[in-house]
Amino acid sequence: MPRGHAITLGQPRSSLEARGRRAARNIRTYQTKSRYSLLKPLRRVPSCTIRHVTSEPTTQPTSTSSPDSPDWLARVNKDRLLADLDTLLTIPSLGGTPAEVNAQHLLADRWSEEGLDVVSWEIDVARITEAADFPGMEVDRDQALGVIARLPGTGGGRTLLIDGHTDVVPPGDLAAWSGDPFIPRILDREGRPSVVARGACDMKAGLVAAWEALRIVREAGVQLRGDVILCPVSGEEDGGLGTFAALEQLESSRIDGCVVPEPTDLDLVPANGGALTFRLRVPGAAIHASRRSEGVSSIEKFVPILNALMQLEETRNAQVDPLMHRWPIAYPLSIGTVHAGDWASTVPDLLIAEGRLGVALGESAENAREQLESAVAAACAGDPWLRDHPATVEWWGGQFHSGRTDPDAPIIRTVREAHLRATNSSPETYGGPYGSDLRLLVGKGGIPTVQYGPGDSRVAHAPDEYVAIDDVVTCAAVLADVIVEFCS
Ligand SMILES: [Zn+2]
Repeated sequence: MPRGHAITLGQPRSSLEARGRRAARNIRTYQTKSRYSLLKPLRRVPSCTIRHVTSEPTTQPTSTSSPDSPDWLARVNKDRLLADLDTLLTIPSLGGTPAEVNAQHLLADRWSEEGLDVVSWEIDVARITEAADFPGMEVDRDQALGVIARLPGTGGGRTLLIDGHTDVVPPGDLAAWSGDPFIPRILDREGRPSVVARGACDMKAGLVAAWEALRIVREAGVQLRGDVILCPVSGEEDGGLGTFAALEQLESSRIDGCVVPEPTDLDLVPANGGALTFRLRVPGAAIHASRRSEGVSSIEKFVPILNALMQLEETRNAQVDPLMHRWPIAYPLSIGTVHAGDWASTVPDLLIAEGRLGVALGESAENAREQLESAVAAACAGDPWLRDHPATVEWWGGQFHSGRTDPDAPIIRTVREAHLRATNSSPETYGGPYGSDLRLLVGKGGIPTVQYGPGDSRVAHAPDEYVAIDDVVTCAAVLADVIVEFCS
């Protein structure tokens, strides 16, 4: 028998494995190179090392604050904000690595030094992942740190939660970056000085903007009646473990509104479609390729199933909520990986495909799962082989439900008005096609939640992701205004 190669649709398996090994090596390199690769302690405050490649002055919009309310834009300390952003971006807080925990430790330590009431705790990963409504986890993780920092109010006011994730996704192909993904630098992007680093856009800049916002409110001496809670979380990118654990911790607190400073380009995103990760197993019957008509190729049997899934995507997107009208496909159904066979001259007897199913606003995850399972079952029923050897569907990994807050909820009105005051323009309001922690905050937490932050989600997860410095400053000013308006 002639020797052949393993069959992998897309890329040869050898190249996929090599890429995986390269990625793992890169991650290890970052862990040892980072100044923050040791778990504890993280007491020292490093100086700003963001490299100024361009020295163009930044232009700020003119604030329209009324004479009796502070000019928040003028109060933002940009150097301090950039120094903190630099510190956080230098930590390669990839999901499932010790650095993910380090980023949480850093914020707990810094906020404690600044006088906030900080509670931090080891999340019992083994226990929490067993919970019936656990949202899923796609990386190996045996430790995670929960952090809740509170500025208590004097009483009788509304409580505001600001939730933001500190984990980042891997950098991907390093050759596509203009430099080390974990050495932040300032470059011109679309004519604006921007911070470039993994996590700059998604979403460390938003988190640092919230941090600066709370600081300038305190510096202005404003007395708040309600509490402000800063909640940095791990594990958002692979399911939402951190916010899930924080909501358990906050169960006894009444929370009236939540802002998640994810990259929305300073627009208002009060709703997210969901995303359910699935795995299909399509059986075939192996035989020597020279007798292929007597076997059954699992690759060929995947074709009618794929067609059925594409048809299902079209049906599910025929009519969508007006909040989602801006997207060409509001609820994408996408196959991300396909593997089949293990020998070039053998008819493959198993194909495994993994993908992600979008969940519509207002739709239950159960309904979405049922639709996909029915489509696969119907495709199998129409095929003589699959009728007797049906493909199976497994739901695994991230199970992001959709979530939605009324666009007229008080927290959203407050952010809209604060944005208008700071920029003289109204933000757009729309739903995001991606899953995020918003659905946990709205669903499990019952908290009216809006995403509002600097950076364009188009560059999130991409090489050289960036965030314009002006937008981070504007976000800090707007969030300071929101804190005062909402919690006074
Ligand atoms: Zn994010």
